[in-house]
Amino acid sequence: MPPRYDLHCHSTHSDGLLSPAAVVVRAAARGVTVLALTDHDEVSGVDEARAAALDARITLVAGAELSVSWEGHTVHVVGLGIDPSCPALSAGLAAIRAGRTLRARRIADALAEAGIGGAYEGAHRFATSERLISRTHFARFLVAAGHAGDVKSVFNRFLVRGKPGYAAHVWAALGDAIGWIRDAGGQAVLAHPGRYKVGGSGMRRLLAEFRDAGGDAVEVLSPSHTPSDVAEFARYARAFGLLASVGSDYHGPGESWMDLGGMPELPPGVPPVWQHW
Ligand SMILES: [Zn+2]
Ligand SMILES: [Zn+2]
Repeated sequence: MPPRYDLHCHSTHSDGLLSPAAVVVRAAARGVTVLALTDHDEVSGVDEARAAALDARITLVAGAELSVSWEGHTVHVVGLGIDPSCPALSAGLAAIRAGRTLRARRIADALAEAGIGGAYEGAHRFATSERLISRTHFARFLVAAGHAGDVKSVFNRFLVRGKPGYAAHVWAALGDAIGWIRDAGGQAVLAHPGRYKVGGSGMRRLLAEFRDAGGDAVEVLSPSHTPSDVAEFARYARAFGLLASVGSDYHGPGESWMDLGGMPELPPGVPPVWQHW
């Protein structure tokens, strides 16, 4: 059996619904042999996932998904194969998380202005980690309060630019995030590039800056990508000399477009991010 990679998913240590151990068990049951746990701005779930992976006889790659601001857009950079105890990375992640808490207050204020009160406390009821609050937790609150049918549809009506509950926020700088990942011995992967509404020339600038700052790979296979996105980002990876990665971005039952290990094979002609593992 060839190895099956899933290098992007979330647990209760950020905004996923399953514990790190439950994510590993589910991934193993679905045929994943190499799994990266990549919680948002957080590495606290890695130890539990590693222990579970030992039991499940699969390989666990320590990871995190870092929140970055680039030219006014929010961009995510996945770090793979990081040392979770690296001081530079820990400090960087702590700074991003502190910013998240401030943003959560502003999201709650913006929702209150739109007539939806109690959102800060409400979102915290859905947060599974004391250390981290995300828009997904606000989305779960909005669903529970009857403002949307499910978490996926919340983001059509709330919490995004131009809609109630949007709060602009400045995350880490791209070069800093890549630097922390590299300090921690990891590879930096530009996550789900098809989601960034930056246009063709913007994408080429982003990829050039990403590569020049030490970025390693592009997530070619992501559930947010159409087949033509997959072909396009495979071409971009080749053109910019970047490796290709694969990730389901799984958040939990009922809240994800794709289950763990559900991704197809990478298109031919792009070297995978794991080529030297
Ligand atoms: Zn992301
Ligand atoms: Zn993610």
